Amino acid sequence: MGEFDLIARYFTRPTARAVLGVGDDCALLQPAPGTQMAISCDMLVEGRHFFADVDPFTLGHKSLAVNLSDLAACGATPLAFTLALALPRADDAWLAPFSRGLLALADAHGCELVGGDTTQGPLNICITVFGEVPVVNGQSQALLRSGARAGDDVYVSGTLGDARLALEALRGTQALPAAVLAQARQRLEQPTPRVALGQALRGVASAAIDVSDGLLGDLQHILKASTVGATIDTSIAIDLIACYDQPDWATGLISLKNQLEYVLAGGDDYELAFTAPASAREAVQAAARQARTPVTRIGRIESEAGLRLIDGQGNTLTRNFASFDHFA
Ligand code: ADP
Ligand code: MG
Repeated sequence: MGEFDLIARYFTRPTARAVLGVGDDCALLQPAPGTQMAISCDMLVEGRHFFADVDPFTLGHKSLAVNLSDLAACGATPLAFTLALALPRADDAWLAPFSRGLLALADAHGCELVGGDTTQGPLNICITVFGEVPVVNGQSQALLRSGARAGDDVYVSGTLGDARLALEALRGTQALPAAVLAQARQRLEQPTPRVALGQALRGVASAAIDVSDGLLGDLQHILKASTVGATIDTSIAIDLIACYDQPDWATGLISLKNQLEYVLAGGDDYELAFTAPASAREAVQAAARQARTPVTRIGRIESEAGLRLIDGQGNTLTRNFASFDHFA
């Protein structure tokens, strides 16, 4: 199978929303009147972002999911994406499930594959997504990192820590019952981008980011961009590990120290962390219901710079949590 056969067989599909898709020198997109384009790019590298033997179907899913998560964090509606792929060899047994996983998630979000590039090389997947954000009265409705204000509430969507829990189990550093591992592994390998929630939070949230490198690290980006600080109640956050609902879950399976680590700094969660004025609590819950995505209030924005952690009794936690940094 040659390069062009490969593209034709696995990555060429009719487009409905894009003006022109795969097959020419450029794709053509027409943003709807009164919208701006939101664009984001993420790369997944073997050995760095995924294990070499990972199921190609879930890898296809995750490759797009991490990009859709960035659109979600901006409140954007997905439109299209491009796929730059370096492959060691043209292997049907890998390409078929990879493209199925990728395109199933794309279809679920109406996000069309409109182009890309294909080369031989160490496995590397680079996706660029294009989304739309409305402009109302000349004002972009995009959710930015810079809009948090003192007095705002801090929220996080869904669950946290499960991806890291699965990673530790797969590395052999954490023993887990099979059913618990299966659930955690699902969160690691097939994360759900919170696209509907991001859109529902337009005009409600004051700032947002997606939690890909760990809650605290990503939250600090909001604090920095907004020149504010925050206090987070870790006793609320720690209950957000989804696996706690498992019948096979045993209290004490993970030390409190590790639970905190996974939830606050675990990474790979692809949830949204966002802020909203206290007056918008009803509106936040309405957005969560509309998006069928639970959200939990975990803290407050303050004018004093820095991130403060408290336990359930209000005592300050002094431990430091490192966020993921490829070059640290
Ligand atoms: P060019 O020579 O202009 O770079 P290519 O020969 O690389 O074009 O690609 C031919 C067409 O196939 C283009 O429309 C390109 O966007 C598309 N394409 C190439 N690789 C992929 C891929 N992995 N997924 C989707 N479309 C692709
Ligand atoms: Mg090319």
